[in-house]
Amino acid sequence: MVKTRFAPSPTGRMHVGNLRTALYSYLIAKHAGGSFMLRIEDTDQERFVDGALELINRTLADTGLVYDEGPDKDGGVGPYVQSERCKQGIYMKYAKQLIDQGDAYYCFCTKERLEGLKRTVAGKEISAYDKHCLHLSKEEIQANLDAGKPYVIRFNMPTEGTTTFHDEIYGNITVNNEELDDLILIKSDGYPTYNFANVVDDHLMGITHVVRGNEYLSSTPKYNRIYEAFGWEVPTYVHCPLITNEEGQKLSKRSGHSSFEDLIDQGYVKEAVVNFVALLGWSPAGEREIYSLPELVEAFDYHHINKSPAVFDMTKLKWMNGEYIKAMDSEEYFKLAEPYLKKALPEHMDIRKVGEMVKTRIQIFPDIAEQVDFFSEVPAYDVSMYVHKKSKSTLETSRKVLAETIPLLEKAEDFGNDALFGLLSAYAKQNEMKVNTVMWPLRTAVSGKQATPAGATGIMEVLGRDETVRRLRAGLD
Ligand code: GLU
Repeated sequence: MVKTRFAPSPTGRMHVGNLRTALYSYLIAKHAGGSFMLRIEDTDQERFVDGALELINRTLADTGLVYDEGPDKDGGVGPYVQSERCKQGIYMKYAKQLIDQGDAYYCFCTKERLEGLKRTVAGKEISAYDKHCLHLSKEEIQANLDAGKPYVIRFNMPTEGTTTFHDEIYGNITVNNEELDDLILIKSDGYPTYNFANVVDDHLMGITHVVRGNEYLSSTPKYNRIYEAFGWEVPTYVHCPLITNEEGQKLSKRSGHSSFEDLIDQGYVKEAVVNFVALLGWSPAGEREIYSLPELVEAFDYHHINKSPAVFDMTKLKWMNGEYIKAMDSEEYFKLAEPYLKKALPEHMDIRKVGEMVKTRIQIFPDIAEQVDFFSEVPAYDVSMYVHKKSKSTLETSRKVLAETIPLLEKAEDFGNDALFGLLSAYAKQNEMKVNTVMWPLRTAVSGKQATPAGATGIMEVLGRDETVRRLRAGLD
């Protein structure tokens, strides 16, 4: 059975790249009818951020990426938090096994000595370890341990030959073993490194497909060496492409929209973000781009992940978000739009009505403000706006319409949209005018705009009689 995992480090908001990793892991598992697991990688205690665990849980719940196993859902291979696994001695046990086999060794080198090993090659600082401690005698090692000297445990990488591994997206990759540094498996604080813990855990937890960002691609041959030393089966690797901004640079925190939470704060809909993120590196067959999560599960074939960098195209995300808003049912839409409507409209106005007017006209919720600003105040407009060829509206007809409809509107019994439309259509008929010739100046006078989210009578209904009449009178001045 296919089993994947999402293995975030609790370091803050969920970066779009991490969300994509979580999503692809989930989709690969679910597409194959398999299982999706959450593991918390908190062995780098310095990077730990308070509240980050809650944020991970909330983001996964909000995006619908429900895991089958995780810290609060035991599937029999826990604990699912690496610091707890560390306390149980899991990593030390396996590191010691490697020492016994001759595949790993204690290293007591001081910081100063390691500093001295640093070299600059082609402008880059590299610090390949020189295997100094590999050659310590048993007695020397024991004496150091007895004396309580701090140590790390390193893997003994081969120095000759090559290592080849297969990635489902990037194909076969071969590296020269002389490039493989003797990586640290256990740090001096007793915690394992990511490099070691991911191998041990993925094996013990039965992970079949390892899905992660391509920044791990260059370390993967080293992980294969560790699998090999244990005699464990190597998982299927799916490394996901880099995500860049529109200028081709790596998407960074500074862009302001690099995390899921940033996007939600900016008025994006979570389902749209998930849909958009799914397409960052994966393209379905055909032209279709709107996919719900269950539809993604159905369609997702990881063999179609692209290895070239995926561009985070804000214009596309906005468009997609607008499509999700249009398709929302009224209640759900109103719940999300309400705070923006309340902020933009005078208190007494029917915010539900205005909300419906703008639903198909916005791409993100903050767009509401600009769409409805005239409800609070009519922007200054020029009388030339009354002239509109298609509506057969001139300055003359406009003055006549405003002057004659004000008294009608003052005594209209019903100030609802339909009734007002009936009243004004009847007035147009009596005066042998097109309905549009009547509506054009009225809408201009009540909104001060040439494009509005509703017609004249829809706006009048929301404004109410007094404000409508006040605005029409001002239009005559
Ligand atoms: N803890 C690693 C990270 O957050 C996970 C990498 C992986 O998926 O193996 O980047």
